[in-house]
Amino acid sequence: MKTIIVAIDGYSSCGKSTIAKALAQYAGATYVDTGAMYRAIALYTLRHGLQDNESVIAALPQIEVGFKRVPVISPDGKQDGFAQHVTLNGEDVEPFIRTLEVGNRASEVSTIREVRAFLVAQQQAMGTHQSIVMDGRDIGTVVFPNADLKLFLTARPEVRAQRRFDELVTKGEKPVYEEVLADVNARDYRDTHRAESPLRQAEDAVVVDNSDLSREEQMQKIIDLFNQTIDKPD
Ligand code: C5P
Repeated sequence: MKTIIVAIDGYSSCGKSTIAKALAQYAGATYVDTGAMYRAIALYTLRHGLQDNESVIAALPQIEVGFKRVPVISPDGKQDGFAQHVTLNGEDVEPFIRTLEVGNRASEVSTIREVRAFLVAQQQAMGTHQSIVMDGRDIGTVVFPNADLKLFLTARPEVRAQRRFDELVTKGEKPVYEEVLADVNARDYRDTHRAESPLRQAEDAVVVDNSDLSREEQMQKIIDLFNQTIDKPD
């Protein structure tokens, strides 16, 4: 059976992972969250107090990043499908990697060439024997330049800041909107201006601006694009 590779890139807080997960489920493909892999390395450096790039590079042979399929249990105690959790040297670190601190450290370690090469090699290996939907910043440009479908998700910074603000409030935090917006802008700047694999739109990527789309409208658009891709003769 032919395997399919879908690359989803875009700015932070664009809803990439929600869309990628839903599309993977629709397509019967494996979802790979590459941001989680950078976050796992970031967590390792925070736990071991590695601050300079040289010590991070020297530690890479001791770091193993992987994924584990875990059952999702709904609030009523029933199993509701499976989720992919990232592992760090065998430990499920999903509960520790979604903080602002780890996100900011991930954005720093992701600028190190050796770190990128280490993770890109693993990401490419995952696409050799199975259909995957992978999201990140360099998937359509570096990891899978020959992906079957490339999507570039975007939304206005104010809309993304509002979404992140709402998420933080749901988590019980007390964010300040202006600070969240400043953080979104700072991360965009770092992601697009770094020397190694900066975030950019692949020439053959389809741009989806979801600022004014509902989740359902966006999903329909992406499913239509996916179906057009698999219907295309080789
Ligand atoms: O997507 P997420 O916010 O989890 O990613 C965390 C950080 O990892 C991003 O801010 C980005 O700098 C980096 N990253 C990257 N390349 C990827 C995925 C994430 O540089 N493919």
